[in-house]
Amino acid sequence: MKTRVLPLVMAIVILLSSCSGGSYTEYEFMMDTNCSITVYSRADRDAVAPVFARLRELDRALDRFNASGDVARVNLSAGQSPVEVSPEVFGLISRAKELCEMTAGAFNPLLGAVSDLWGFDRAEHESVPSQTEIAGLLEACDISNLVLDADSCSVYIADERARLDLGAIAKGYAGQVASQLLAELGVERAIVNLGGNVTVLGSREDGRPWRVGIQNPEADEGGYFATVDCSDTSVVTSGAYQRYFDLDGVRYHHILDPSTGYPAESDISSVTIISPDGALADALSTACFVLGSRNAEELCRRCGVQALILTTSGEIIRLEQ
Ligand code: ADP
Ligand code: MG
Repeated sequence: MKTRVLPLVMAIVILLSSCSGGSYTEYEFMMDTNCSITVYSRADRDAVAPVFARLRELDRALDRFNASGDVARVNLSAGQSPVEVSPEVFGLISRAKELCEMTAGAFNPLLGAVSDLWGFDRAEHESVPSQTEIAGLLEACDISNLVLDADSCSVYIADERARLDLGAIAKGYAGQVASQLLAELGVERAIVNLGGNVTVLGSREDGRPWRVGIQNPEADEGGYFATVDCSDTSVVTSGAYQRYFDLDGVRYHHILDPSTGYPAESDISSVTIISPDGALADALSTACFVLGSRNAEELCRRCGVQALILTTSGEIIRLEQ
């Protein structure tokens, strides 16, 4: 038996070299990953602490393992009663449901119980779940079981076995929230990196766009295979290399195909979505991975987002919109 869980690697590297005025970066571990905020002037440093405070608050509300948070409370009441959540959390859950429908279920925020069955967060793995267990749970994950009432801001999971998991949308959303708050606090240029989900504010001091390097799944952390030039946008990557375990010679990664309940068998090695809408970029990155390159291209075109796909055969597909 061989098991291994890698810590989340930073999926994206920022190339900062051409910023002349110096930079200031603060790090914090939250959202189950390494996070950082970089600003480029002394005066802007004061904005970083309140933004991290806002992100911690958001993390508490969205983390399904924090019993007092909104998402965890919704899960604890699955099959029993609707739960009132904050307007912000309600908005994100509604968005997640819409995106599930828009991606024909490839992004499904109600898959939490199936992820738990696989136990990607556990350090040790002695077996994989049985097909019967997975199949039994899958029907509970149907998005129609996520019942939303906008008038009362309440969320109800209609099947007691299903669990809400915003893991594939929360960091993208949070990155955009952080960048907006930085702008409100007077910051003109900054980079927010939430475990490889990058949001860039403004552009470089000389007016040129930021250059974001996309992690090469085959290389050590920091090696990139392509770069994306961009301003005021989010750059979000999904790949099978980010979280997985090996058991009896088979690799099981954390992005599940909602139609089977098994790790998605994709011809994509890594997919990056570039969009000013961080939640959209994050959800689409996961959905595209599940759908495979051909359907991913179609989805990105339909959604009007820029994308960069690396296939398992090494082909790089760039979609400009
Ligand atoms: P990461 O969070 O590692 O950057 P993703 O954005 O692709 O990567 O999100 C993966 C996480 O989302 C998983 O760890 C799991 O919690 C959840 N998840 C897995 N498969 C799906 C899916 N098909 N739809 C929605 N959420 C998923
Ligand atoms: Mg995602």
